[in-house]
Amino acid sequence: MILDAKIPDGPLAEKWDNHRFNVKLVNPANKRKYEIIIVGSGLAGASAAATLAELGYNVKVFCFQDSARRAHSIAAQGGINAAKNYQNDGDSVHRLFYDTIKGGDYRSREANVYRLAQVSVNIIDQCVAQGVPFAREYGGLLANRSFGGAQVSRTFYARGQTGQQLLLGAYSALNRQIAYGKVQLFPRTEMLDVVLVDGKARGIVTRHLVTGHIESHSAHAVVLATGGYGNVFYLSTNAMGSNTTAIWRAYKKGAFFGNPCFTQIHPTCIPVSGEYQSKLTLMSESLRNDGRVWVPKAKGDKRAPQEIPEAERDYFLERKYPSFGNLVPRDVASRNAKQACDEGRGVGTTGLAVYLDFADAIKRDGLNRVSEKYGNLFEMYEKITGENPYESPMRIYPAVHYTMGGLWVDYNLMTTIPGLYAAGEANFSDHGANRLGASALMQGLADGYFVLPYTIGDYLAQMPTAKVTTDHPAFKEAETNVRATVQKMLSINGTKTVDEFHKELGHIMWNYCGMSRNAEGLTYAKGKIQELKKEFWSNVKLIGVNEEMNQTIEKAGRVADFIELGELMVTDALNRNESCGGHFREEYQTPENEALRDDANFAYVAAWEFTGPNSEAALHKEELTFENVKLTQRSYK
Ligand SMILES: Cc1cc2nc3c(=O)[nH]c(=O)nc-3n(C[C@H](O)[C@H](O)[C@H](O)COP(=O)(O)OP(=O)(O)OC[C@H]3O[C@@H](n4cnc5c(N)ncnc54)[C@H](O)[C@@H]3O)c2cc1C
Repeated sequence: MILDAKIPDGPLAEKWDNHRFNVKLVNPANKRKYEIIIVGSGLAGASAAATLAELGYNVKVFCFQDSARRAHSIAAQGGINAAKNYQNDGDSVHRLFYDTIKGGDYRSREANVYRLAQVSVNIIDQCVAQGVPFAREYGGLLANRSFGGAQVSRTFYARGQTGQQLLLGAYSALNRQIAYGKVQLFPRTEMLDVVLVDGKARGIVTRHLVTGHIESHSAHAVVLATGGYGNVFYLSTNAMGSNTTAIWRAYKKGAFFGNPCFTQIHPTCIPVSGEYQSKLTLMSESLRNDGRVWVPKAKGDKRAPQEIPEAERDYFLERKYPSFGNLVPRDVASRNAKQACDEGRGVGTTGLAVYLDFADAIKRDGLNRVSEKYGNLFEMYEKITGENPYESPMRIYPAVHYTMGGLWVDYNLMTTIPGLYAAGEANFSDHGANRLGASALMQGLADGYFVLPYTIGDYLAQMPTAKVTTDHPAFKEAETNVRATVQKMLSINGTKTVDEFHKELGHIMWNYCGMSRNAEGLTYAKGKIQELKKEFWSNVKLIGVNEEMNQTIEKAGRVADFIELGELMVTDALNRNESCGGHFREEYQTPENEALRDDANFAYVAAWEFTGPNSEAALHKEELTFENVKLTQRSYK
């Protein structure tokens, strides 16, 4: 199969406008004859559902939480980017485009990224109109702060709760459509398979998480907006329920998986404190606006931070990257923190932490000002660590945070299965090998509010309105398979819990496919994951039955998928013999330990095709062409 990204012709800045003019439209009276399934009620899913319903389509929304507004998007703290240039500091659509392409280490598609920058300005207007309480300046204008990888201030925020406020906006819009009867919401319902009829996505099979009831739903198109898969590492900043099941099952039905190994490790998280921890907490990147990152200059210096004089501190990001300082992109900040700890200069009892210090900001701006900006984050830090960050620097360490990989999609956000779309973090995204901070919310809302409503219409306009019913044999077959898998897991009755398997997988992934990787470690990891998969299917222990609320069933299905995905991630990382963004192969680095790309051989999106349960995935390449930016060694010095 030849991958066709369907990038429209014409100059970069005109592609989206031209495309919107050229797409086919569905007559308003016909829209009500079409049904669309949207799996996921986070920012991507909720915005798409509300907008498509507003247009007149009938929409069914599914989520596994008890309320649509508990989607993981609610956790986003720091902000959302937009090229509004309210600060008059030199921002523009082109600059946001350029920063994103460069930040992603030249591994994303130019046309998509430009469109993202273009529609970013509409997102803010849309959200303000919905009543999202963005922070404002004294005079009433919307305020901005800075995020990594940019020298302009373009991040809109609502204190440290931006995701929650944006989701409340999208959720209100969604509820409006529920009240009109245009959206039907299915909470506590997990999608376990996608159903294809005549090669097109025509529905899904779900399991109700309270009753265990397995059923089918049909539609004319299906959107997966099911979030990221960072929990493949067991410990991450993601919500405990975030998983890969929806996109993994779609992959097994023929949707290609794009750049699975591109993972973002966020530099400012509360360090791991023990073996029994199941969750990591993010300290928002916004803190790097004012916090200064440092470690002692001397190895093994165990003095309290206040006792270490200025001259004996190493503000390593400011020293190495004077232009961007503490606001270098996440991959760069994370690698440097790891390097300092590997050199024996880490702090805290484990030595796996660096300081994020607000003493200078408090001296400069006063405690009240710092508290106004970051109060809830400081409170969260104190609750978790028992230390007061106003008095002593925070201890932070990198942690898994976001997955740039996901289902491969074309310019229309359609996967390689006709009629199956992927949006938000679930698609392989516009962020290349490293996402810049505050860009995920922007992308999820761009996909949902502004892209899908056009591109799905184009697809539907070309298909008959006739419905496929769930009596179709394809639905019956998918339901039978889902039931059989659940029963098989229940019947194994082994000795190891699902969590034990998950933790073991997480250790393998973090140690060999985490912040830095090498061929030897990846090869070893692949063997270990294959062994783990075999053991899972012969020794996992679930309890209870299907016909009840049974979290061991939920978790087992997700962990089984994580294990398989882990193997694909390792395969992808092994294949990519270069370093780029968050994918750091130790064999490929500059003399200054920066990521060393190989543009001649690897300027492509790796799109993997499932070829069967026991055979190697097949690699397809979408070659990336750069006509508007010059590929250079990324420098933030
Ligand atoms: C702690 C934290 C802070 C962050 N802060 C920021 C920030 O400040 N700015 C920024 O830009 N980005 C931030 N991010 C990233 C950003 O929050 C996410 O990338 C984004 O919210 C993902 O949105 P989404 O709609 O794609 O998916 P999600 O919000 O994860 O929603 C997924 C939805 O899919 C549903 N679902 C999943 N699987 C199934 C299934 N099988 N069946 C049924 N339903 C399913 C879930 O129920 C949920 O409704 C942060 C991430 C974390 C972890």
